[in-house]
Amino acid sequence: MKILITGGTGYIGSHTCVELLNENHEIIIVDNLYNSKKTVIEKIQNITNKKVKFYEADVSDKNRLENIFEENDIEAVIHFAGLKAVGESVKMPLTYYRNNIDSTLTLLEVMSEHNCKNLVFSSSATVYGEQEEPVYVESMKRKEPSNPYGKTKAMIEQILEDLSISDPEWKITLLRYFNPIGAHKSGEIGEDPNGIPNNLMPYILKVAIQELPELTIFGKDYDTKDGTCIRDYIHVVDLAKGHIKALEHLTKATPGTYIYNLGSGQGISVQEIVTTFEKVNNIKIDYKFGPRREGDLPGFYSDASKAYKELGWKVEETLETMCKDSYNYIKNQKQ
Ligand code: NAD
Ligand code: UDP
Repeated sequence: MKILITGGTGYIGSHTCVELLNENHEIIIVDNLYNSKKTVIEKIQNITNKKVKFYEADVSDKNRLENIFEENDIEAVIHFAGLKAVGESVKMPLTYYRNNIDSTLTLLEVMSEHNCKNLVFSSSATVYGEQEEPVYVESMKRKEPSNPYGKTKAMIEQILEDLSISDPEWKITLLRYFNPIGAHKSGEIGEDPNGIPNNLMPYILKVAIQELPELTIFGKDYDTKDGTCIRDYIHVVDLAKGHIKALEHLTKATPGTYIYNLGSGQGISVQEIVTTFEKVNNIKIDYKFGPRREGDLPGFYSDASKAYKELGWKVEETLETMCKDSYNYIKNQKQ
């Protein structure tokens, strides 16, 4: 299939491109390189030994996007492009609403005009907000996320549901990711944010390579197994493979909107991540406990059984491999 990947040079997009190429799909990437580098294209090509067509463009640029659709016979789109930093979104809400909503609306208009109505969208567990139960199931109603980033995801889900009702030719899959970590086994692609990271694994990696002195674990008095927060961590390659399964499903499915959690179904604490990272990589991570981070939920994880039943997808990697592959990537970058 000929697939347009928006945000394809980013962390999750690049891993998904590799898996799509491995399955012999033809891919076209559009990315404005706001949060990624052009060298990722070469790396994807080196890993797969296949060619990728790349457009450096903003998805909100309608003329550019129209040209891309005219030049290529695109059958489906996976829409990763977006800004994703929670803290930054609180400080720059307009930038987040403008970028994430505008790019999606532009994409949908251009797709409609070109009669390309198959879409997989990168949503997030954040759209569940805070639920009564820690196990998040697709049948739960969305609750308002606590920050502008999360709100853009909830709004886009709503837009896509409304679109699908208005035009029954659309086939749309909303994939709600839990916490992706890890990297491709080659060590060529992974996540290495600029500046001081906000997310747990990138922060641990900076401590591991001695770019930061120590990790602060936010809170040790939560009502959890060891007092630290619980999340559902998923290897980015497992996550990438979920997109292939979602696309395969979408091509055969009747039109409409489909929603799947992509997670491991397991709750892991911050303390467990640190301990496992130290053990499998034989390295000491200096850390201290600090106060709770504002807005953090104590613990939640996915019920991933719907993706297993309907897509035939489940995670294959372990917490150990997630920690190993993350460290392997960052060491490889620093060589
Ligand atoms: P990323 O920042 O690594 O990748 C996003 C890519 O989109 C970047 O390469 C960026 O340059 C590009 N981009 C942003 N705005 C664009 C625009 N207007 N036009 C063209 N390109 C644009 O992020 P990621 O971790 O790979 O996340 C991919 C998607 O998954 C995002 O939509 C994100 O919100 C969502 N998501 C991520 C996580 C996570 O923890 N990483 C969790 C849930 C959902
Ligand atoms: N966390 C932490 N120290 C950090 C970064 C994160 O203790 O420097 C914790 C955070 O409180 C949360 C978990 O690690 O419980 C995952 O945080 P992340 O920001 O990676 O993901 P999210 O909170 O968006 O699920």
